[in-house]
Amino acid sequence: MHLVDLRLRGFRNLADDDLELPEEGVALVGPNAQGKTNLLEAVYYLEILKSFRGASDRQLVRFGDSFFRVEGRVRAQERDQPFDGQRRERVVGAAWQREGSRKKVTLDGQEPPRLSDAIGQVGVVLFTPADLALVNDGPAERRRFLDIVLSLNEPGYVTALQRYRQVLSQRNAALRTGASDHAGAWDELLVEAGARVTALRGRWIHHGRERFTDLYRELSGGEAATFRYDPGVPEVMEEGDPPADDHGRQLEASVGARYRDALSEARDRERRQGTTVVGPHRDELRIRVADGGEPLDVRDYGSGGQRRSVALALRLLEADTVRRRKGREPILLMDDVLAELDEDRSRRLLDLLDRTAVGQTILTAPRDSDVRFRGDRLVRWRVQQGRMER
Ligand code: ATP
Ligand code: MG
Repeated sequence: MHLVDLRLRGFRNLADDDLELPEEGVALVGPNAQGKTNLLEAVYYLEILKSFRGASDRQLVRFGDSFFRVEGRVRAQERDQPFDGQRRERVVGAAWQREGSRKKVTLDGQEPPRLSDAIGQVGVVLFTPADLALVNDGPAERRRFLDIVLSLNEPGYVTALQRYRQVLSQRNAALRTGASDHAGAWDELLVEAGARVTALRGRWIHHGRERFTDLYRELSGGEAATFRYDPGVPEVMEEGDPPADDHGRQLEASVGARYRDALSEARDRERRQGTTVVGPHRDELRIRVADGGEPLDVRDYGSGGQRRSVALALRLLEADTVRRRKGREPILLMDDVLAELDEDRSRRLLDLLDRTAVGQTILTAPRDSDVRFRGDRLVRWRVQQGRMER
């Protein structure tokens, strides 16, 4: 995959511009606060239709302006699956205007029926220093990671997740006010949406385990790491039991049955606590690393370098998911990633990328010496007060 051109209007501090991007990628080099991350944010906006930094659309509009618009043309290369089974190119556009807070998204010039239809159309994986939160923060951060990967790559996931959240909040409202009979009325809907979410998460984790261990071993230079699904519906998936590969349907049915039982077992507890205590909103993805000895939870015991390697391995696994599910080589965005790593780790990361990631890569670095990617072949642009100097 390859972002051919990018049209920018009114986005953050970036100058209005029509950029043509080299097929292999580009290194954005410049001092702090010039607009390097802003450019990555604009590209990734086309993938998730919001800011990856958690900014509101309003904050993305250049100070003093009334709207922003970003438009990108992506091309599937020879080895990539075409879009919709036939097209080689796709144009994704997104705009937001202050007046009336209006957002408009287009795919090849047409507004899709739902915004969620336009999510994940490009195939981009982003690496940022903020990924450390995936390791350091609580389970919600890892659920968010699962949600993003699956929303972008698994048809039906976003819909199930949105439905689950909606039903969960209504059920919790009923439990809070002590109307637990009322809460029971939501059970079937909760099980239906929740079983889909659990099955798709469980299946992804199951299929990714080996690859995650391999990626981490390569990055760390021989250490072992594992991840494991700790589902919020107890005893819902047996370790080592490979889920049938039918889009998780069979798994979904068995999860649903177990979920129903777990809800009735938890009836008293829920009444006491006034909230739903079983379900994927309590999922955890447990990651352990072992440096020769006992495997230990990386969140509690990992070193700085181990944490960084785990975060990188998760992103590399996400890139693998795009390859596998979409049949396209993802575009990689790497914000300041190399500057953060020690010599050995960055060499191993570069080796790994050289072997596995053959698509376009857009990376940022404060200094020229931090660009050690693909030798000296990668084109460099200077970033100066929001301008890309080619
Ligand atoms: P670093 O190397 O420190 O990460 P960077 O080049 O990645 O720097 P960015 O985060 O891309 O920096 O850009 C930050 C700049 O963009 C800041 O100076 C900030 O004031 C400016 N900025 C952020 N939002 C807007 C906006 N809506 N309008 C205009 N300027 C903005
Ligand atoms: Mg930055």
